[in-house]
Amino acid sequence: MFGEPGFMSDNHIMPTYARADVAFERGAGARLFDEQGNDYIDLLAGIGVISLGHCHPRIVAALKEQGEKLWHVSNLFRIPQAEAAAAKLCAMSFADVVFFSNSGAEAVEAAIKTARKHFAHAGQTRRNRIITFAGAFHGRTLGTLAAGGNPAHLAGFDPACPGFTQVPLEDEQAVLDALADDVAAILVEPVQGEGGIHAVSDDFLRFLRRVCDEHGLLLIFDEIQCGMGRTGRMFAHEHAGITPDIMALAKGLGGGFPVGACLATAHAAAGMTAGTHGSTFGGNPLAMAVVNVVLDEMAQPGFLEHVKAMAEQLDAALHDLATGHADIVAGLRGRGLMRGLQLREGVANTDLVAAAREERVLVCGAGQNVVRLLPPLTITGEELDEGLARLDRALRRLASQH
Ligand SMILES: *Cc1c(COP(=O)(O)O)cnc(C)c1O
Repeated sequence: MFGEPGFMSDNHIMPTYARADVAFERGAGARLFDEQGNDYIDLLAGIGVISLGHCHPRIVAALKEQGEKLWHVSNLFRIPQAEAAAAKLCAMSFADVVFFSNSGAEAVEAAIKTARKHFAHAGQTRRNRIITFAGAFHGRTLGTLAAGGNPAHLAGFDPACPGFTQVPLEDEQAVLDALADDVAAILVEPVQGEGGIHAVSDDFLRFLRRVCDEHGLLLIFDEIQCGMGRTGRMFAHEHAGITPDIMALAKGLGGGFPVGACLATAHAAAGMTAGTHGSTFGGNPLAMAVVNVVLDEMAQPGFLEHVKAMAEQLDAALHDLATGHADIVAGLRGRGLMRGLQLREGVANTDLVAAAREERVLVCGAGQNVVRLLPPLTITGEELDEGLARLDRALRRLASQH
């Protein structure tokens, strides 16, 4: 078991994660198999990463094909696969240009830099502060930690990167009060993930768009977890009928390959000229070969309809679970295939996550004592049913312990 004395002595991984003592060997669709051959239903998808399920045949084929041709050349040269992926992302969104990174945090860093540079480029060098929201999560780099403002994540890593002001979500007056002549942008996750699967109201998102328009600010959406079809629309902000100026993507974008992207309008990205930003690996041919397949699959007719159908099935089943286990589940959260079970005080989400693992269904915790479900978008109705039946057994197991 992890945490026991003997464990550390033969494990040389820096112990920054509280890992479960299970290792998986292979996966297919929404199923994972551990080293003993036990099958698990994956309702977590690597925290929303495995958007097309494990080892999707077309992704595997694209990776093999590109792997035999060319892996990496550096951004000193044109990369046609990246140009194709950027064109697809722009065609399906508000954006005109894309910067590719290797992770979500780097995509948010690129978004922050794009916003700051926009104003510096226009001669407004003092305008560099970004308004963010309580409960946010934007990554673990020094810049994105400061943006997220989570005291537990910041502790011990002083000095925090300046330039962020955090206000409560859904509090219009707090946003207006935070406005000053040094504010450049507003940064928000349309559905907060790590913070506890909290869907920001469409009204509040529209309010933020209005504030940015009225005050000449840039609106940045972090759709790293809620984007790429997760909520039943390609991007979560589509539900509110508005668009941002800049958006960070990652997680589901690569279907398991580490990749992120910062999308922007030409106007917002006006300052991002040659030499202003870079990444050695960002957008390399191997990553882009995978991203192109993910984007093509998501653009297939019926893809989002399937997500919506599975989301409805999940919603109905979660309501049944919440009713059947009202002693444990206090409420439901989220949107589409990004859902949370809010647990009652006195029942730790870590206990349900562990009980679920015992029943061989994978979920994970989120802030505010929430248990998070982010199944592959391609999950079948049968896999979903099986996973939820196991979750039901886990809830029963937990109830018997309380
Ligand atoms: C996961 C996540 C990040 C950070 O992504 P990494 O790839 O871990 O750097 C940032 N923002 C949101 C909303 C996320 O869910």
